[in-house]
Amino acid sequence: MDIKFTNRLSYKQARLTVLVGFILGTLLSLIQIGIDYASEDASINREVQALLQISHDPASRIAYNIDAELAQELTGGLLQSPAIIRARLIDNNDTVLADVHRPRQEDSYRPLSDFLFGEQRQFKDRLFLAHMPDDYLGTLYLDVDTYAFGSRFLDRAGITLLNGFARSLVLTGILLGLFYIMLTKPLVTVIGALSGSDPRQPGQTRLDYPNGHEHDEIGVLVKVANQQFVSMATEIQQRRNAENRLTQYLNELEDIVSARTEELKASNSRLSQSNEELEEARRRALDMAQARAAFLANMSHEIRTPLNGMLGMIALALDSGLNAEQRQQLSIAHDSGKVLVELLNDILDLSKFDAGQLELERIPFDMGAMVEDTANLLSQNAAPSVELTCLIAPDFPSSVLGDPTRVRQIVSNLLSNALKFTRFGRVDLRLSSIVGGVRLEVCDTGIGIPEEAQVRIFQPFTQAGAGITRQYGGTGLGLALTRNLCKAMHGHLHINSQTGFGSRFSADLPLPTHTEAVPPAPLKGQVVALSNASSGLAELLHGLLPSWGLDYQRRDDASGLDGMAIDLLITDDTEHLFELRPGINAPILLVTAYGNFLPAEQTAQLAPLHQQARPLARNALYQMLRRTLQGENATPAPSEVGRLLERRAQILLVEDNPVNQLVAKGMLAKLGCQVQVAAHGAEALEILEREGFDMVLMDCNMPVMDGYEASRRIRQSGRWPDLPIVALTANAMPEERERCRAAGMNDYLAKPFRREELLALIDHWVPVSG
Ligand code: ADP
Repeated sequence: MDIKFTNRLSYKQARLTVLVGFILGTLLSLIQIGIDYASEDASINREVQALLQISHDPASRIAYNIDAELAQELTGGLLQSPAIIRARLIDNNDTVLADVHRPRQEDSYRPLSDFLFGEQRQFKDRLFLAHMPDDYLGTLYLDVDTYAFGSRFLDRAGITLLNGFARSLVLTGILLGLFYIMLTKPLVTVIGALSGSDPRQPGQTRLDYPNGHEHDEIGVLVKVANQQFVSMATEIQQRRNAENRLTQYLNELEDIVSARTEELKASNSRLSQSNEELEEARRRALDMAQARAAFLANMSHEIRTPLNGMLGMIALALDSGLNAEQRQQLSIAHDSGKVLVELLNDILDLSKFDAGQLELERIPFDMGAMVEDTANLLSQNAAPSVELTCLIAPDFPSSVLGDPTRVRQIVSNLLSNALKFTRFGRVDLRLSSIVGGVRLEVCDTGIGIPEEAQVRIFQPFTQAGAGITRQYGGTGLGLALTRNLCKAMHGHLHINSQTGFGSRFSADLPLPTHTEAVPPAPLKGQVVALSNASSGLAELLHGLLPSWGLDYQRRDDASGLDGMAIDLLITDDTEHLFELRPGINAPILLVTAYGNFLPAEQTAQLAPLHQQARPLARNALYQMLRRTLQGENATPAPSEVGRLLERRAQILLVEDNPVNQLVAKGMLAKLGCQVQVAAHGAEALEILEREGFDMVLMDCNMPVMDGYEASRRIRQSGRWPDLPIVALTANAMPEERERCRAAGMNDYLAKPFRREELLALIDHWVPVSG
């Protein structure tokens, strides 16, 4: 390693030493020069005094003799001295005997000499003779030029200084060499060895001691460096080991990471694959849901169209002259058709729940009557040995607020199950008020439901046991729908059942009271019931008759009735009926199971005999009692048809299906409307051109031109802007309503429609003129 000369330690050391030596030398030289100066200064006076002493005697004699010539000689002699520049001898009369002088020496160092010693000095010597010391003879004056001494002194001082410098210079060189040999060279050797050595290399951890420096500071330095080398080498070795371990760990880590990455990649690809599968499944599910919706719509259309025809025809037939039995048969056929429609609606409703599209109405309705109607409708499903009874609390409100259609669905689902799963005993439908609403209970003495199945059966398409479908049929939809409906009304559905002992379903619905119960006008009379104490009939009559003001008694058999004043005998015992008649004159009300009315000839034998089918409805019973006990005829309800007969609304019916044409035409004619029929949209447009109408009833799906297109054209033409168009369609899906509205139709009537619905529509869209 090359170090600049001026940076070398030896140079710095030498420079310092020399600097100190130089300063000291200069100081010593200056002291020496000072001493020399003092001695030179003294020597001037001493030498001139010596000269004066030497000259004293001759000068005294000259002055004594007043010898100018000798005086001249003496002063001239004195002037020979290099320092004397003037000599003057005067006698005691101040007569100048001699006065000699010469110019002083000029030189460039003179000012310095003059500064040190003064420019010149004057000496005088009083002259006298030794034997007459008191006699003043004259004075010898000497002017001394100090430069003669000063130049000598300056020469010596210069030499002294130069000498000092020269010594310093030599000393510097010697010291430089010595320091180089003693310090720099071994240090440079050590530095070279240090910089050439690499502690990372094994075996490179020793420096050699420079010769002769084994025990001095350099030796110690080398020793310490060697120790440091050893510890560094150890440390480097340890680090290397640690580094190796680290590298090993890193490699292992890398291996793990790459393995994990591979795993991740694999699971990623699995994930994306299953994602794709999921997406595919979702798409398929959506497609299926759409297909299901379309299927439901189509199915509902396909089923409703013939149903519409069937129900319409039956309704028309019901309006014609029929005997009681035919009427009952037809009305049951009509009701069954309606049940079928409701079943269809169940399926649609469930799909609506799934789609979250169920909307609930809130209108007043007579729930008691509705429950009786429903029970009456379903009574045909009751097994022969099952007694179906509607037990409505006497204080039950006349009307409550809610959605009658949906409540009817709940009643009919629970009741049809009870009837289906009960072969013997009773099925009771109870209705009572609870705080904030109503309680509907359906109790049966049927097969019951095992406890473990009681949760399961509320799932769609689920039944209590494997054999249920085979034995009883059913789809497993009813309870799911019922529970959803209760939930939607913020109510609760409870179940209580024991296998073999029957079931009790109880729905608590928060339906507020709209109109409180109105007790009917009290009746008068003695009524006796012949019925088993545990029968539904006995319970019903016990609850109702006393509250209507009647005297009521129940008997197990007819013994003891003879001679008793009875106004009416009510019984459900057909077997012993014929034994009764001779002994009892009172009219008899026979309560029979559905379809078990006695034939006409037997009725004639037992006259006066009234027959009513189970379940007894409160109103029907009341009217019958009034007629029988008070001989009054019940006032028939005012005929809505009568109102309409004056209307004679002009209706254009656009419908391709001949059966539906017949049904709608029949209903409209009954409502007093004049009807024109068009088989498709194009024909309707033609007829509209010719004649004026109050309303168009438009089927949606027709050949040639469908109802949507026809409605669009009617609206586009702008000629009949206020003409109401009401869609008639079997498709009950919500999208369908929207579609109709978009085509320009004003309202919507789902097929099969009832006469009341049609009437309400006409009422709404065709205002009574005049
Ligand atoms: P479905 O009656 O069409 O099978 P539901 O959802 O109405 O469907 O009823 C589900 C199941 O619950 C029935 O299959 C039956 O096993 C059981 N269940 C419902 N009500 C009763 C009942 N009153 N008595 C006995 N089992 C019943």
